[in-house]
Amino acid sequence: MKEKKPVIPILKAEPRDDDPTMLKVWCPFCLCYHLHGRSEGHRVAHCPPELNTPFEKTGYYIALDPEAFRKKNRIRKPRWY
Ligand SMILES: [Zn+2]
Repeated sequence: MKEKKPVIPILKAEPRDDDPTMLKVWCPFCLCYHLHGRSEGHRVAHCPPELNTPFEKTGYYIALDPEAFRKKNRIRKPRWY
């Protein structure tokens, strides 16, 4: 008999477009980005309750994606604002 421990997923955080010091994570259930503040760590899921995603129960960890930040710094695309 296997006991199921809740596994808290870790999502890769990328810099936000509106403010690169803030983070966003791609949610594979909502198929959209959830926006977060600037610190890593455990977060309550930002999934809408009606979607009933697995993140609802566990929340998730957000961890910086160094790759995304490197790219952001290297490519200086002109912004639209
Ligand atoms: Zn979600």
